[in-house]
Amino acid sequence: MDIQRILLIILAAALGGVLGSFANVLVIRWHEDSSIGGRSACPRCKTTIKPRHLIPIFSWLWLRGKCAYCGKSIHYQYPIVEALVAILGIIAAVRHDPLTDPMFWFEFLFSMTLIVPVVMDIRWQEVPVEYLIGVAVLSGLWQVIYPPSSMEDILARFYSIALAFLISAVFFGLQIVVSRQKWLGLGDLWFAFAMAGILGWQKLLVGIYMAYVIGGVVAFVGFVAGKFKRGSRLPFVPALFAGTMVALWYGDRITAWFLHAIK
Ligand SMILES: [Zn+2]
Repeated sequence: MDIQRILLIILAAALGGVLGSFANVLVIRWHEDSSIGGRSACPRCKTTIKPRHLIPIFSWLWLRGKCAYCGKSIHYQYPIVEALVAILGIIAAVRHDPLTDPMFWFEFLFSMTLIVPVVMDIRWQEVPVEYLIGVAVLSGLWQVIYPPSSMEDILARFYSIALAFLISAVFFGLQIVVSRQKWLGLGDLWFAFAMAGILGWQKLLVGIYMAYVIGGVVAFVGFVAGKFKRGSRLPFVPALFAGTMVALWYGDRITAWFLHAIK
């Protein structure tokens, strides 16, 4: 890896920190249903935050998780989301050259957008529906038109993405109807549409499978450790997100391996 690439990876991490603090704003604004805009303010005392207190991750650590004005604690959601998006930026920049490969932006931006519903599902058991529809449509559109190709190819890709949406609708819709929203909620269905747009149908199957494996392991460990109570509802969107990332990074290898195994 040359020095230019290493610099680009560091830049991607910094951009991730900034986009992560934007994701934090989106989380709060979608939850409170107010418009985006205006300066960042402390959620408790409403004081406008000075630019030097807006540096992702570092400001939170420097202020030891407290507001510089009222001294009330600032939720750990903020530095964790910033760090998470910075890590997504690093991984995308290691996998794809940010200067020459548009897939860097596809992986980075779409994986980052999914953080917003993950946080909202964990904290309030809700997801931003119109937002997820937007992510599903934009990512699906990208899959259809990129890379530029013949009309025939584009049409074939359109059917492929349509199939992914159909799989999400049937697989999650059925579980919601059959279980009367006991196993899964409508939020999981909306998230699954975004997965379909980002992954396409082959990787979507990998993503769903991995979500159940990861979610199952986490739930099992949680119950054994006494962290989760019996009958308590666990958010499933974080597991779907984890499955999505595994499918995005390793989906091609996993499907190739699977096709080889059943031959
Ligand atoms: Zn404050």
